[in-house]
Amino acid sequence: MATAIVEKSPSIVISIVSEQRTHFNSGKTKSVNSRIKQLKQLKQAILAYESRILEALYKDLRKSETEGYLTEVGFVLNDLEEALTKVKRWVKPKQVATPLFHQKGASYIQPDPYGVTLIIGPWNYPFQLLMAPLVGAIAAGNTCILKPSEYSVHTSNVVGEMIAEYFDAGFLTVVEGGVESSKNLLAEKFDYIFFTGSTQVGRIVYQAAAKHLTPVTLELGGKSPCIVDKYIHLEYAAKRIVFGKLLNAGQTCIAPDYLLVHKDIKDKLVKEIKKQMNSFYGEDASKSDDYGRIINEKHFDRLSRLLDGDKIIFGGKTDRKDKYIAPTLMDGVTMDDAVMKEEIFGPILPILEFSEIEEAIDIINAGSKPLALYCFSKRQSRVTKVIENTSSGGVCINDTIMHMANPNLPFGGVGESGLGAYHSESTFTTFSHQKSVMHKSFLVDVPMRYPPFGGNLKLLKPLLKYFNK
Ligand code: NAD
Repeated sequence: MATAIVEKSPSIVISIVSEQRTHFNSGKTKSVNSRIKQLKQLKQAILAYESRILEALYKDLRKSETEGYLTEVGFVLNDLEEALTKVKRWVKPKQVATPLFHQKGASYIQPDPYGVTLIIGPWNYPFQLLMAPLVGAIAAGNTCILKPSEYSVHTSNVVGEMIAEYFDAGFLTVVEGGVESSKNLLAEKFDYIFFTGSTQVGRIVYQAAAKHLTPVTLELGGKSPCIVDKYIHLEYAAKRIVFGKLLNAGQTCIAPDYLLVHKDIKDKLVKEIKKQMNSFYGEDASKSDDYGRIINEKHFDRLSRLLDGDKIIFGGKTDRKDKYIAPTLMDGVTMDDAVMKEEIFGPILPILEFSEIEEAIDIINAGSKPLALYCFSKRQSRVTKVIENTSSGGVCINDTIMHMANPNLPFGGVGESGLGAYHSESTFTTFSHQKSVMHKSFLVDVPMRYPPFGGNLKLLKPLLKYFNK
């Protein structure tokens, strides 16, 4: 049974933040060995709680064990393994050249922990999206407060219990709660805030952070378009689109939101997509063990309002009691339809068509900058045209979702889809202030830098030009 979420009052929040500040100021988080110890502790905690986490994900989103492991628990364990192997290298200062004019000296960039950090998570990948940033926060030597989403209550409870059992609250703690707790946290001064959620709440977080001049990462959402050219591998394209759209029942920030399909291939593509939807989840997806459910009634009702019976060409079946919405295709959709006016975040795929690639580019550029942009085409010239003439957080050609699974590619949005990026070393960098250090020796001292300058400018000009490189 999930424990009801209780909002945390300002006074509770103030005492938690103050405990963490004391802990950070004690210097206990800073040595690389203590970071490694805490990362190992997190790994141990996750392994011990693995089955309970997967169970909670099932209860919250009907995520199958396999999907839960691949996209949440396993994903985080991989991040942890990488951080454990590489953190000693990441923390090393990066030497940079010191110009002749500044000799004798050395210069370097020292990754420095920010201090007390806050991670606010959403409900759709409620474990991964708290833990993946946390790995970087710990590796970078910070303390951290985690605020899970109140919608994914089972996962929130389990994460709360796990962290309380394995960590000292001065170092790492979970503040469960909803909007109220989140607002109370945001009223306090943090040294870094990492937020994942909607663009609307992202604005609120940014404003709250601005009051304290706190740096932020904002991992937001929006409509991610998927262009499908006529030159494609039909079966693979359809499979990859269906995979990306229906993972977690469409509740993925980088799910292809809508299709922009070349008119010459549209009928064939639609036929193949229907075939793949049936082959992945059966004729009745409600009976599939691998098909998720909508998080709650509020989102179920929102999604139901986006369904237009006249435009549904596949699926459309819904069951409010079960929070089930069938994989659904809508055709003949225009930009005036409700489904094109907001991020869908559910298993509904609208289809729009184009004749020239420029039309698809214009449609994308008329909206706000997407988090992900997908383009299926065998023609490099068209792919190049799309990449060069659009702006998005990331791009994936001839596949969906997979660009975020490559740890070597920083993941984040641009414009309304977000600010900053993370994954792998960039998570560590995100949670570290890049402190510039110049270390001078007492061996040499250039006298003409000091007043009175007299006629020194004539001498200084060439010196600056040749020796300041
Ligand atoms: P949300 O913005 O409603 O909530 C996110 C978090 O903010 C929750 O913990 C919630 O308690 C808190 N919150 C809500 N209202 C608040 C307020 N007024 N003041 C302070 N805090 C508040 O987002 P969601 O519904 O949980 O998640 C869905 C959205 O997140 C979608 O837009 C999706 O695209 C986006 N998302 C983005 C990414 C990414 O990596 N870029 C990943 C997952 C989800």
